[in-house]
Amino acid sequence: MSKAVLGGVASNLIKCPGFSIRRVRMRSFPIYLDYAATTPCSDKVLEEMLPYFTEHYGNPNSLHAFGFDALKALNVARSEVAALIGADPEEIVFTSGATESSRISIERVSSLTHKKFVTTKSEHKSVLDCADIIKSRGIEVSYLNIKSDGLIDFEHLDSILDTSVGLLSICMVNNETGVIQDIKRIANLCHAKGVLLHTDATQAFGKIPINIRDLDVDFLSASAHKIYGPKGIGILFFKKENKRLLRVPMANHEVEYGLRAGTVPVALCVGMGKAAEIAKSEMSSDFSRITGLRAVLVENLSAALDETYINGSAESHYPGIVNISFRGCEGEALMMECKRIAVSSGSACTSNKLSISHVLNSMSIPADIAQSSIRISIGKPTTKPDILIAIEDLIAATTKLRQMSPIWDMIKAGVDIGSIFEGKHCDYAV
Ligand code: PMP
Repeated sequence: MSKAVLGGVASNLIKCPGFSIRRVRMRSFPIYLDYAATTPCSDKVLEEMLPYFTEHYGNPNSLHAFGFDALKALNVARSEVAALIGADPEEIVFTSGATESSRISIERVSSLTHKKFVTTKSEHKSVLDCADIIKSRGIEVSYLNIKSDGLIDFEHLDSILDTSVGLLSICMVNNETGVIQDIKRIANLCHAKGVLLHTDATQAFGKIPINIRDLDVDFLSASAHKIYGPKGIGILFFKKENKRLLRVPMANHEVEYGLRAGTVPVALCVGMGKAAEIAKSEMSSDFSRITGLRAVLVENLSAALDETYINGSAESHYPGIVNISFRGCEGEALMMECKRIAVSSGSACTSNKLSISHVLNSMSIPADIAQSSIRISIGKPTTKPDILIAIEDLIAATTKLRQMSPIWDMIKAGVDIGSIFEGKHCDYAV
């Protein structure tokens, strides 16, 4: 890309539109484009949290002024989180994050009902791990088919749901592809057959509108650190009538409506509440700005490079997650080559393994295309110059790697290279 295209990048002073305060920062490299992995904690959130570490440090269970103070802050935070998804505060339990929320709902409901658990092979590792755990305890687990665009196969869903199924878990927005599932339609089908629905909404919460009443899900997991809140705090939403399914028999849990043990981290809850409040007011403008940045990224890369594929549904996706394959290049090699940007190959949780993403594998994406994928995720602080630098680096790296790649020569010569990659599938829980 020419210098003229990069335009304003010449200056290293850049603005961060849309971020908590209109902060001007020095451009530093690498540019963070991994907002689906985690986000920086916003200044406003941090400001709100700090007094709850130092001044208002009471335990919300204590029956004195310090305790009442903490309880009041906890109640406000719970209401802010509930407001973001249209829930009642009594339906929100603070947890350590989405992993724990999914674990509580899937493990406890399945252990109590002892009925079949259904999910997909494109779920986050936190849900796939739960499936493995309950399976080892003798509960049957089935996996729904995923179509090549990452959306679930509704015919298969319809045929798989019956009275033997207790719970279904489907991710609302996939963390690797950004594909958005039709949760409302899934919930309707589930409830028509007496099946409960859990959704992992970690990548959707605060980014796309969620109305829990409208979607009619039974359980929902979400996290603060994907929406500029602190790490180590998340929520589990549960419908009031399902609370009894979450209790651990014999356990004397004292906090969070008797569903958890230990002391509630009030400062973190306050941070999550503030992050939810900001997300509610900025969601719509963030979404349109990020949609624009995605378009610049995808259009420029597709125009400059052939054999480039966007993985996941073109119609139903969250724009901040771009899963893109550059055929003939290994995703990991691309990441190493693009020194000015920090992106992810596969999901961050599995990117230290040199294997094909289980998500792309579940979509039956040809192995050589899956192997050449990276995930670029756009966030509030991302600017157009950031995206232009990413485009420049990715074009240069792809061109360089393809020049050195015997695989690329074979692709260009029309050789069917599928068999070379056979057996390189990630064997995690699939
Ligand atoms: N589910 C999804 C879809 C995620 O993206 C993540 C974070 N990578 C998690 C669950 C786990 O969230 P947490 O870190 O809050 O446990």
